[in-house]
Amino acid sequence: MLKEKDTVERGLVQRVERGWILHNLGKVLRDGPLYLVESSKGKTVYVVDLDRDTCTCKDWRRRRDTCKHIFSAVIFNAKS
Ligand SMILES: [Zn+2]
Repeated sequence: MLKEKDTVERGLVQRVERGWILHNLGKVLRDGPLYLVESSKGKTVYVVDLDRDTCTCKDWRRRRDTCKHIFSAVIFNAKS
């Protein structure tokens, strides 16, 4: 149980860190109510809706939980 919680928290910390990296690389753009977040390799753009807490990436679809793109949009929002 404790191990499981540790793993969950480590995953969360990693996603926040990756969200910061995406933000610092200038990968986040605002488009009206939505945020467009480019993948780190720049090949894909994911659409984040902060009002609904959704993202179009595979990670979000799989887990239905906050992904690095959502974190990057939250950071972008807080900084601008
Ligand atoms: Zn995502």
